[in-house]
Amino acid sequence: MYVQVIVDLPIQEKAQTYDYRYDGNQNLLGYRVSVRVGPQRRQGIIIGMSETTQWDPQKIRTIEKILDEQAVLSQEQIALAFWLAQETGSYFYQALQTMLPNAKKLGKKQSVKELKMRVITQVSAIALGANAKKQQEAYDYVCDQSLPVSVTELNHIFGNSAVNALIQKGAFTVEEQTKWRNPYEQYEVLPLIRHELNQQQTNAVTQILTSNHEVELLHGVTGSGKTEVFMTLIEHMLEQGKSTIVLVPEIALTPQMVQRFKARFQTDVAVLHSHLSEGERFDQWRLIEQQNLPIVIGTRSAVFAPVKNLGLIILDEEHDASYKQQNQPMYHARDVAIYRAQQHAGKVVLASATPALESYARAQKQRYGLVEMTEKAVEKQITPIEIVDLREEFRQGNLTMLSRALETAIEEALLKHEQVLLLFNRRGYAQFVKCRECGYTVICPNCDISMTYHKFQHQLHCHYCDLQLPHPHECPNCRSEYIRAFGSGIQKLEEYVQKRFPHARTLRMDRDTTSRKGGHEQIIDAFARREADILIGTQMVAKGLDFEHLTVVGVVAAEQSLNFPDFRAGERTFQLLMQVAGRSGRHKPGKTFIQTYNPEHYAITTAQNHNYNQFYQEEMRLRKLGYYPPYCFLTVVHIYANDDVQARYVLEQIKRFFHDKIHPQTRILGPTKALIPKVDQKAHYYLVFKYREQAGLHEQLTELKKHWQKQQNCQLRIEIDPGFIG
Ligand code: ADP
Ligand code: ZN
Ligand code: ZN
Repeated sequence: MYVQVIVDLPIQEKAQTYDYRYDGNQNLLGYRVSVRVGPQRRQGIIIGMSETTQWDPQKIRTIEKILDEQAVLSQEQIALAFWLAQETGSYFYQALQTMLPNAKKLGKKQSVKELKMRVITQVSAIALGANAKKQQEAYDYVCDQSLPVSVTELNHIFGNSAVNALIQKGAFTVEEQTKWRNPYEQYEVLPLIRHELNQQQTNAVTQILTSNHEVELLHGVTGSGKTEVFMTLIEHMLEQGKSTIVLVPEIALTPQMVQRFKARFQTDVAVLHSHLSEGERFDQWRLIEQQNLPIVIGTRSAVFAPVKNLGLIILDEEHDASYKQQNQPMYHARDVAIYRAQQHAGKVVLASATPALESYARAQKQRYGLVEMTEKAVEKQITPIEIVDLREEFRQGNLTMLSRALETAIEEALLKHEQVLLLFNRRGYAQFVKCRECGYTVICPNCDISMTYHKFQHQLHCHYCDLQLPHPHECPNCRSEYIRAFGSGIQKLEEYVQKRFPHARTLRMDRDTTSRKGGHEQIIDAFARREADILIGTQMVAKGLDFEHLTVVGVVAAEQSLNFPDFRAGERTFQLLMQVAGRSGRHKPGKTFIQTYNPEHYAITTAQNHNYNQFYQEEMRLRKLGYYPPYCFLTVVHIYANDDVQARYVLEQIKRFFHDKIHPQTRILGPTKALIPKVDQKAHYYLVFKYREQAGLHEQLTELKKHWQKQQNCQLRIEIDPGFIG
């Protein structure tokens, strides 16, 4: 037999497989093996087996060692990795590494081990002497418990000697069992809550279960009860013995979801996201794979969960940008979900109050089924949104970060012991450090981007390469001492709020305060327990959270999102505003304030009117005018080169290659210096392809990428926007 092996080698060569001989008759598909490549010993993974080989059989070496007791990859996962690599123009090896938890990746040392624990599985009646008081207590204790009982736990209560004596006397039968590391162990299963579905929800469930569409778009306003629909669908899956993957956009949302699902199904659910420890991730993975836990909840990469009998994948808040991975392979979870559901003849449900433009467009074209839920599940007034014109505030002499209208509302909320949420998109104390005499701005020498001032360390920090520098005493350019932090940051907002409302307790939620494991949950739990009155956060606070006493929401400056240089800025702003507005007044009457210098912008006015449809029409019109997705494909070729000259040269060469091959509707833009032109000392440029029909583009780009990477020793990356609707 011959086996085809993907070997853990430097990136350029990872694309190909190597053939090795195997003299056994075991099915080794998906096993890791140790092999020789030239003089080196390497780890590889077997992705194919065959009777013959295209190479000279005399020269083929035998595999040295089989490293796993069980396959780390199933046939389905191998096929999925192939598909993923092809879809995203990346290497099979990269696709594989993205899909697997660390403990199963190639080239990783097996640092994570299965945890064992000793448990008592049986109790036998025995007579104990009158002096053996401790033993009698321990014995009675175990008799009162439901088995199995952990020996360690028993030792803690009654001491090792008593417990050991009982075991030796044959009172307890002890076995070794796997101890599953469970990140949500501390959450007890709450009592079962189950709503009778209303008409709108019943219709949604029926339509989703009976339609012929593989993909259903569930467009439901915030509070329409989409989660209840998910749970009913999952119930149907469980009845048929099928599994469900539920994706959420933000790690912070998993505990809420886990708790709701545990309460409903009175069973454990598996959880996968990037804040799990390696051990937890390894165990959750095995719980799905080996114990067939039928419900998986997680963020983007949970779409790869190794469920066997997949019936349904749900993407909650399907429009969210976090579903797209930002490095290679640059996949979108939506596409992976659809592909996997097809393989299993299962369904995909995309749910959102503000669907991605392309999803809604596909539903309009009946490529997806469309279910609309327009009413809230619980009768309630829609929370009003007030737009505050910051130009007017400025004219009136208010130079602070909060308008008078918002301040008044905060004051009133605090008096009523209600809570306030302020959305602010930037990180750090101030945006940049600038010289007031000559205008010099401190930029990162590696990345060419403004460095951010952090007050507590009195330091400058680059958020791209992590470089830290001391705050300069004088301007490096003109030696002026008037070099200061400029602009506004979230810490500055927090300080202002603390000064303005000295009796209010504030909490800040941004990447700095949540970077520790569990940081998100801690802040959210604290706010939910009303340990703070005002929560100030970046857009991560906008997503799906539900606080009972929150009544006032303020968007400090809509520009922070609106002015981002991306053709989706309008869409992102609309979605963000709708989402953050949905946080207020979920249980009591509330109000949302949007502060902006652009009060007439359609993304803001349509958000104010809660009018998705109008937003959709206007945005589609502009996309058509500008020739952007969903009216075309958009593929970006990124280069990370040694310098500007090389970056431009390679991209020009690639552009030239297409000179006589482009379709009349194809446009090639660039080479363009990227927004963040230098990352890790590399010049970052790109070339943008906009097209409707350009046969063979991705194959050609993949070839060009290989060629130029080798020839110029640079890095190329192909990013395919999934937004074209055809
Ligand atoms: P969405 O995810 O669509 O924003 P949720 O699923 O969070 O909405 O539901 C909003 C609220 O309505 C929740 O508090 C939920 O318990 C409640 N709810 C949902 N369906 C029903 C129902 N059929 N009857 C009563 N209350 C419901
Ligand atoms: Zn200066
Ligand atoms: Zn930097």
